[in-house]
Parts: sequence; structure tokens; C-alpha cells
Amino acid sequence: MANAPVDPARYARHLALPEIGIEGQQKLAASSVLIIGAGGLGSPAGLYLAAAGVGRIGLLDHDRIEISNLQRQVMFDTRQIGQGKAETARARLSALNPDVEVIAHAEKLVASNAERLFSPYDLIIDGTDRLATRYLINDACVLLGKPLVSAAIHRFEGQAMTCLPGRSPCYRCLYPESPEDLIPSCATAGVLGVLPGVMGALQATEAIKLLVGIGEPLAGRLLTYDALNLTFGEFRFERRRDCAVCGEHPTITSLAHHEEKPLSRIAEWTPRQLAEELKKEGGEERLMLVDVREPWEWAEGRLPGSVHMPLATLPQRMAEIPSDVTPVFICAVGGRSMAACRLFTAARAQDAVNLAGGVVGWSNEFGAPPKPDHDHDHDHGHAH
Ligand SMILES: [Zn+2]
Repeated sequence: MANAPVDPARYARHLALPEIGIEGQQKLAASSVLIIGAGGLGSPAGLYLAAAGVGRIGLLDHDRIEISNLQRQVMFDTRQIGQGKAETARARLSALNPDVEVIAHAEKLVASNAERLFSPYDLIIDGTDRLATRYLINDACVLLGKPLVSAAIHRFEGQAMTCLPGRSPCYRCLYPESPEDLIPSCATAGVLGVLPGVMGALQATEAIKLLVGIGEPLAGRLLTYDALNLTFGEFRFERRRDCAVCGEHPTITSLAHHEEKPLSRIAEWTPRQLAEELKKEGGEERLMLVDVREPWEWAEGRLPGSVHMPLATLPQRMAEIPSDVTPVFICAVGGRSMAACRLFTAARAQDAVNLAGGVVGWSNEFGAPPKPDHDHDHDHGHAH
């Protein structure tokens, strides 16, 4: 590939630059870039890298095109709403430059597929909008030794930086912690549509320079762009000796810590299934019946052995559910209890069961459940 043929007409303006010329253009043709996120940043980055004649471009995105994307994701048009981004972008870049091999990766980047996805590429462009993914990409690039050009956008402000593993600081050197909850994504904060156009074009610029081997990379420098004041700033930073991934004694030596915890499952049981499970050996110890209805509903009757945690109190009282039981959430007909299952499984690495049909379903099967204890005592009093 070192002497890949170069179309002199298509690349005439590059060939006229002594810094690029035929040699630089051949280097571009022999190189490959993976663009993570075919969105606001990935659109200009992808278009310019394809136009520049980068030999192979991968587009990693598992989303579909929505109308609200078109304000900034200029690879797509209105007729393509609903189509997959990776494949649609692949077709667009191939049409722009048939010399380029464009590969659509319509999958979600996770710790377990990062190495497989990154390995075939020379350089990685981070155009994602989620911080957790940003750290995963940084760590994968450092561990695999892949140059990384990342950018971030927020309202009217952009940031960009390049990480050259082994030679420059990484994203974690700059931001050691992951303040995921502090920074809203594009969806909630809003973003000037042209802002990712500027930042994505800067990413393409960095990629071309690195692949050709010219200029000064944006390594150890955080470039900031303020669109409202139209100012660029630069913040220089050093490699941290205690960086968790690129420092002297790294604690991150694999991507294992990025692996999502095993998803807890939600099962749905009919009243009859629940009755059978409770009858099994140890069933009553293994299961915890949690009634999430309102107090007045609870007073009308509840399943024997159940405890009462109205749905609104569940987040505070969840700790009362031991880690070695499976909660069976119960409401009137099964709707609120499903919400409780979702709350619980999102917070805990534990399975949960939803009683389908709720107390009403149980009553239809086995008759109305008894009222709370004091009523029994009262009844007993009468009996004696
Ligand atoms: Zn670092």
C-alpha cells in the first residue's frame, strides 16, 4: 500500500502543497481512521477525511438518524430520517470519494469489542457525546498505542486534544475523574449546530497532519473554542506521573473496569407461578414480597408475608431489601410494580420479579387477600 496510486486530478490541490505532495498523498491513501460517532463531529471529520483520500475509514455508530440531528449532522439529509447512521454515512463517503474504502460498524462501543474495532485502524477520532465512552476510548487508545484525536462540544464551546500514547499526556491526565453526572449531553444542554462543524474539521486537520507526518500535533495542549466571543484558547498540560492509565504505575491495565455490570433481569410471574415458587423448599426465604401500592390500597388487603414500600419511597428504602433475596414487586395490576422492578434492577445487580396482574390477578386466582394483621386480631377476638 506504500505506493498506492494517487489520482493527480482529484488531489491536485494537495499535490501542489510541498508539505503533502505525492508522498504525503500516498501516505494518506495507505492509512486508516476509525471515526467513533457518525454525528455532529463525525460528519465534518468523515467528509473531509474521505475527500482527502484517507485509504480506509471506519464509521462506528449504532444510532438511527433523527430529525433533530439534521441541525448539525451534515452528512445526512431529510429523506434519510430513520435510517442507520453508520450505513448511511458509509454510502455518503463512498459517493464522495470512491477511492476510499468505507466500513460501517453499526454497533455500540463497549469494553469487550474495543480492541477488535480499534486494532485495524491507524488513528482514532472520538466524536462521541458521552463521557463514560470518552474514558473508554482514551484507555483503549493508550493500551493499544493508537493516536487519538478527541473533541467535545457544549452549547457554544468546544474543546479538542490529541493523545499520542507513549509520547504525550492522555485525556485522563487532564481529567483524572469521570464527572459523568455533572455534564449534560448535547440532548439536554443544547448546542450551536455549526459548533461541531468547527471542532470536527479541526479533528480531521489533526488526523491528516499525523498521518502525513507534518506540523505540530495538538498533544499536551487542550484547544478551547468559544463561538460566542469567537476566541480560541490553549491550555498546556503535562503527563501525570500518577495517571491511572498512562502513568508510572497504572492501575488501568485492561478495559475490564469499563465492562458494564451484568444486567439484572426482570422476570414476570403469574399469581399461580408465584404461589408455586413460594411453596418450593426455601421459597419464602429466597423471595421477598414487596407491595408498592399506596397505604389505602394496602389497608384493603395484601398478600400474606408481604412488606409495604409505596413506590415513591422505594429509592430511599431499597436498602431494606437484602442482597441475597429476589424481590417480587406487587401493585394492583402490575404497572407500578414493573416501574419498581426497573428502579431496583437499575440500582442493584440483582434480579427482580414482577407479579403480573398484581393483587387483582391474585384475587381472581385465589380469592381476595386478607386485610392487615389488626383486622385478624379483631376477628380472632370475635371468634373467642
Ligand atoms: Zn494519562
